[in-house]
Amino acid sequence: MAEDRVFAGIRATGRQHIGNYLGAIQNFVALQDKYPCIYSVVDYHSLTTLSETDELKANVFETTLDLLAAGIDPERTILYVQSHVPEVAELHLILSMVVPNGWLLRVPTFKEKARAQPDNVNYGLVGYPVLQTADIVLYKANKVPVGRDQLPHLELAREIVRRFNRHFGETFPEPEAELTNAPAVVGLDGTNKMSKSLNNHVEIASSEEETEKRVRSAVTDTQRRLRSDPGRPEVCNVYSLHEFFDPEKRPWIYEQCTTAGIGCVDCKGILADAINDFFRPIRERRRELEADPDQVHAVLAEGARRAAEIARPVLAEVKDKVGLPPRRES
Ligand code: SF4
Repeated sequence: MAEDRVFAGIRATGRQHIGNYLGAIQNFVALQDKYPCIYSVVDYHSLTTLSETDELKANVFETTLDLLAAGIDPERTILYVQSHVPEVAELHLILSMVVPNGWLLRVPTFKEKARAQPDNVNYGLVGYPVLQTADIVLYKANKVPVGRDQLPHLELAREIVRRFNRHFGETFPEPEAELTNAPAVVGLDGTNKMSKSLNNHVEIASSEEETEKRVRSAVTDTQRRLRSDPGRPEVCNVYSLHEFFDPEKRPWIYEQCTTAGIGCVDCKGILADAINDFFRPIRERRRELEADPDQVHAVLAEGARRAAEIARPVLAEVKDKVGLPPRRES
């Protein structure tokens, strides 16, 4: 039996925020101790949203900086940029021939994107899950770190694999979920998932001052108007964020909040300090990498080389199985 192999794609959205870190990146780092891992900064995927592409090159670089600074270890793990291994585009094309349109048109995220960008409902949006499947199976990866909310996407990849294997013979393993305990991190607005587009986030790369400023703007218990009012930590997102960065202090904060022992300004100050303490070594490493872009590009080049080494024979096997004639050198 082939060895387990993890694959995850990370959207090239640029500087990652602390929600990305808690929800995904820290798990990618931990998985390196359990499995061989392949992580791809998926830039082709960004082309489905034209508004993201002006800064795509810079975003790929910034995303890579965050991943490396957070602990993705290029000695053990293959880290590369999706478009640097173009075999994935060829596999995407071949897989697209076995996927019924109906499967893709009913994907909820396609419908959401189509609503969000009605002037640009492009083919790539429809084919997104096929490209995602190609990303995974190009390396015959059998483990994909996902949260429960992403299970339907993975199920579609599994259906595509089953259909391909049925038509052309056993080729790909069905990718399984490596379920993560990814917390849903609510943004500083206290309502929505932390997200760059909603500007309710703190970036991993933020300075300590920026972090303090952002955390100071967080929405808390909206019924607590005066410093002397007791608060309700159970409805306050600042309190939930304390869980991630300073869990031992939470009982004390609960007690202080409910007795008006501390005010929200003090509480946010404690949270900002905890976030800054937590990310200080990561930020330091990030600054070092940022100052040496050649080193970062070398990591990506070596990652693409190693990824292509795995991808090429897999693509050759696929082309043979679907009946494409081999190219012969003259
Ligand atoms: Fe929230 Fe802290 Fe204010 Fe209580 S003291 S409402 S936990 S910010």
